[in-house]
Amino acid sequence: MTTQVLPADDNALALAARLLAEGKLVAFPTETVYGLGANALDAQAAMGIFAAKGRPADNPLIAHIHDGSQLELLCDVPPIAEKLMNAFWPGPLTLIMPRRPGVPDAVTAGLDTVAVRMPSHPVAMALLKAVNLPIAAPSANRSGKPSPTAARHVLDDMDGRIPLIIDGGSCDVGLESTVLDVCHGRPCILRPGGITRDMLESVVGPVDVAGSVLRPLQEGETALSPGMRYRHYSPDGQVTLVEGGESDVVPALVQLYRHAEDNGHRACVMCFTEHVPALAGCRPHDIGSKDRPEEVAQRLFDTLRRLDDEHMDVIFSEVVPAEGVGLAVMNRLGRAAAFRSIRARDVLEQAR
Ligand code: AMP
Ligand code: MG
Repeated sequence: MTTQVLPADDNALALAARLLAEGKLVAFPTETVYGLGANALDAQAAMGIFAAKGRPADNPLIAHIHDGSQLELLCDVPPIAEKLMNAFWPGPLTLIMPRRPGVPDAVTAGLDTVAVRMPSHPVAMALLKAVNLPIAAPSANRSGKPSPTAARHVLDDMDGRIPLIIDGGSCDVGLESTVLDVCHGRPCILRPGGITRDMLESVVGPVDVAGSVLRPLQEGETALSPGMRYRHYSPDGQVTLVEGGESDVVPALVQLYRHAEDNGHRACVMCFTEHVPALAGCRPHDIGSKDRPEEVAQRLFDTLRRLDDEHMDVIFSEVVPAEGVGLAVMNRLGRAAAFRSIRARDVLEQAR
């Protein structure tokens, strides 16, 4: 199959809507990351997503809608969900709600709940309106790779596997949506994203955060969100997070880089814009300003993909505080590093 990449004009959207209505797959931009779409009411079409991504069948998909009237095809709406929709839709918030019988098992991975979101990206909205079906769309990467935040990333992963990619430029948020369970008592963040805990709490009061957000799942623990179970967001090289105060982290990164290079590795550092000059000799990859976690979110996946393009095998990264959007950044960065981290202070003391 040849994969066309078309700019997001009227002709491309009409073609995309036709392909989706025929049960084919189309990748399209959203404000979070690029999605790989299929008709959410067509089991065969949804199964095509799993094949194209190499996604495990027990990891459910998110259904995307453009209008509240489509909810009745998919789910029951708890009162608390209604409040959240009014506050944050369209936008990067996915709600887990009780499913209706019309939703194929392929979409929900057999769960009795379904994930639903209304995206705010104008191209996603125009496409959803044109096709007028709920569209199941997980991130348009091969399973295990960082999510795509540009059409080029989608092509790298999906060339020859899907007929069409709509190019709408790079994604604003850069991390996948916040996934919030609203059907098991107090709302619980299963995956942090651009809509932060504080924003949610300002609308519905106390919100929990799933324990596995900032650590690996433990033996025997069930994943509330099946996607959290898998190796995710990983570049091919080994990432280590370096924690501590600024005055320790920068010299520690220099030490770690030199040590890795001396041992024959192709090494680099991921650092804040402010530290690029001090780390000029360590192949610095600029992750954005230390004062702007949204910028770090926006750049993270592109940076992780670049590490593979450049065949880096040892990578040392700075971290952001795990609050606000920083919680979503650290959830992804933690997984990219398989939760491997060291303290800058320890590195410096060992070198003495
Ligand atoms: P992706 O669209 O690739 O970002 O993945 C969708 C995410 O939503 C995965 O982490 C899924 O595990 C999660 N998800 C989808 N449906 C459900 C559900 N019914 N219950 C819990 N998590 C879900
Ligand atoms: Mg994904």
